[in-house]
Amino acid sequence: MKTLNDLNWRNGFAQLGDDFYAKQKPTPVNNPYLISVSPAAADLIELDLASTASADFIETVSGNRIPPEAQPLAQIYAGHQFGHFVPQLGDGRAILLGDVEGKNGRWELQLKGAGPTPFSRNADGRAVLRSSIREYLCSEAMAALGIATTRALAITGTPDEVYREQIESGSTVMRMAPTFIRFGTFELFYYRGQYDQVQQLADYLIEQHYPELQQEAEPYLALLKAVNQRTAKMIAQWQLVGFAHGVMNSDNMSVLGLTIDYGPFGFLDQYDPHFICNHSDHSGRYAFDQQPQIGLWNVSCFAQTLLPLLDEDPETSAEKAQKVLQQYQGHHLTFYHQGLRQKLGLQTEQKEDIELAQALLGLMQLQGADHTLVFRTLSQIKVSDKSGDEGWLTHFKEPEKLQPWLESYRARLHAEESKDDERQQQMNKINPKYILRNYLAQNAIAKAQKKDYSEVEKLLKLLQQPFDEQPEMEAYAAKPPEWAAEISVSCSS
Ligand code: AMP
Ligand code: MG
Repeated sequence: MKTLNDLNWRNGFAQLGDDFYAKQKPTPVNNPYLISVSPAAADLIELDLASTASADFIETVSGNRIPPEAQPLAQIYAGHQFGHFVPQLGDGRAILLGDVEGKNGRWELQLKGAGPTPFSRNADGRAVLRSSIREYLCSEAMAALGIATTRALAITGTPDEVYREQIESGSTVMRMAPTFIRFGTFELFYYRGQYDQVQQLADYLIEQHYPELQQEAEPYLALLKAVNQRTAKMIAQWQLVGFAHGVMNSDNMSVLGLTIDYGPFGFLDQYDPHFICNHSDHSGRYAFDQQPQIGLWNVSCFAQTLLPLLDEDPETSAEKAQKVLQQYQGHHLTFYHQGLRQKLGLQTEQKEDIELAQALLGLMQLQGADHTLVFRTLSQIKVSDKSGDEGWLTHFKEPEKLQPWLESYRARLHAEESKDDERQQQMNKINPKYILRNYLAQNAIAKAQKKDYSEVEKLLKLLQQPFDEQPEMEAYAAKPPEWAAEISVSCSS
């Protein structure tokens, strides 16, 4: 086990050359303190947890100290924001320090909230405590749910003031990912007509992160296929746990299909497919039920940038890209339907299964039922007797309206000779008990703003085991309190 300094640092991305980034060191902060370290993330880079208490660690994860081999830089990218192309964005407050050796290959370490960069566009380059806590906890919670995501190694605070709607305190999150390249990174060069750089980026991505595609007859087409499939899968997984990202701009879409850039995200409490978690999203472009099609819209933006690489003949390359994009919905539905069957605890595949699942979702919507609780407690329903029904039905305002559905469900289970114990065990590995509900994050933020970080730590630990019964934490699985509906989350972070 090693300290952060011993991790065999380098910066692989820097080899791409200075078209792709601006060299930029983090701007130091005053009196940084460590708020929390994720043991699961630390384990990925084989970091000795004991070393995270050292002054050296805190100085590094707050941006005050730069490991000698690191080459700090801010990546340049573009992107479609709310449907409109912005020719140049870039890391305005994140600085990529470098990459280190870890389990399953190398991990890039990137400090978010590290101070201004050439891409800050008059903003301060900082992150505030509340947004850092949300990103830190959600990254680690999503990973524990089995959803591809960037990770969060550590969160720090500083007494330095940051101005948003009010004065807040500053904070950094040390993020980790195999790469932070976005759809928007490709878009930047494509729309500048710099096709050589598009190719250089694609080659780098394939070599470093999709090496298996080098064997393909058409590696760039294979790259598009892989990104298409991973994105479709990631969004199916979001839908299955009730996660809404909130700002699915193409600069917030990872070329590895990782959930990235946690801002005004939200998990569904009551099942409402039209849920808009981002209060700045007035048109509902990124509403919960829009995510699958917005995913395709974004992959189409990415596909556009690869057109010059797919074929010399523009018509042929457009056809090739189109064919791939046509498979998006099929991939998405394959993952989504498979997930729905698992959520219902079904072993075999019947055509009517999806209707059965959709019917339950429809009833949940009408009845204002809690998405997580309904699925989690569905495993209590028994095939041969009704002893589990009453408890489950308490999640619905008009329980009698659920009777016909319950009958169909029980008949379906009966038809495949489903065993109650086995099914319950399997379902409880699929339907989480604990998710990062907005109000739970809010409670942790409120305490942290009074310098009590215990709730951040408690939630981190809780959300590491989202599928396990944790009897002493039962209250954290409950429906949100009334005040939760008043919480407003916007892009201001
Ligand atoms: P986001 O919505 O957080 O993904 O950010 C969109 C763009 O704005 C990115 O280019 C960010 O780097 C930039 N940005 C957001 N907040 C800040 C900030 N406080 N300072 C500088 N740049 C920022
Ligand atoms: Mg972003």
